Amino acid sequence: MAKGLSNIVVLTGAGLSAESGLSTFRDRDGIWAKYDFREVATPEGFRRNPQLVHDFYNQRRRSLADIKPNAAHCALARLEREHPGTVVIVTQNIDPLHEAAGSKNLIHMHGELLKALCARCEARHAWTDDLGIDTVCPACGRSGGMRPDVVWFGEMPYAMEQIHAALTAADLFLSVGTSGSVYPAAGFVAAARESGAHTVELNFEPSEGAGLFHEALHGPATVVVPAFVSRLLC
Ligand SMILES: [Zn+2]
Repeated sequence: MAKGLSNIVVLTGAGLSAESGLSTFRDRDGIWAKYDFREVATPEGFRRNPQLVHDFYNQRRRSLADIKPNAAHCALARLEREHPGTVVIVTQNIDPLHEAAGSKNLIHMHGELLKALCARCEARHAWTDDLGIDTVCPACGRSGGMRPDVVWFGEMPYAMEQIHAALTAADLFLSVGTSGSVYPAAGFVAAARESGAHTVELNFEPSEGAGLFHEALHGPATVVVPAFVSRLLC
C-alpha cells in the first residue's frame, strides 16, 4: 500500500496523548473546563498575572513526570523508521511523547512544555524545572522575560510555512486524535486534498471534519494507529 505514498504528513492532537494519561484541554472534563484559558493561556493573561500563568504551566510540566508514550506514538515512530519515503509529524500537543517514542521529523506547531522562551532576547532553552517571574534567562542574564515556549490563544502557531510546504507535497495525510475544530490545523485536510493527497482520519469518534476525509477509522488511538501503520508498511 505504501507504493505511491512517498510523502506522509501526520497531524496529531490531544486524543493521542489522552491514552497516556495526560489531561486533554478541550474535552468536557478537560483542562479548559477547570481553568479560564483567558487567564492562563493568552498574552493578556500573562501580562496581568505572570505568576498565575507560570503556576499553571509548571503544573502541566510536572504532570509529564510519570507519563510514557503509548502504542500509537510508538507506531508513528515506527512508520518514520520503516517507511521508504518521508514522514513528518505535525503535532498540536505540547508534551514530549512523540520524541520519547523516537520520532525525529517532528513539528510542534503549538510549542513545547519542555522549552522556555525569553521574551527579552528571544532565546529558546530546553527546560524541565519550574518557571517563575524571577527566573533568569541563561542567554541574556535578565529576569522577568521567561515564559513557557507554548503558543497561546491569539498567537500565531509555529512553522506554518514549513507545514504548508509539507501538506503541498503530501501523498498521504493522516489526522490522529484531533477534534478537527481548531484552526489552522482543522484546515490541513482541505489543503492536503487540494494537493492530491489521500486523507485518513484516525480518531476515537468521528470528528467535526470527518466528512472531509477519504477514509476514516474510529476507535482508541492505541488500537487503530498501530493497525493502520502495519497495513501501510505491508
Ligand atoms: Zn534572554
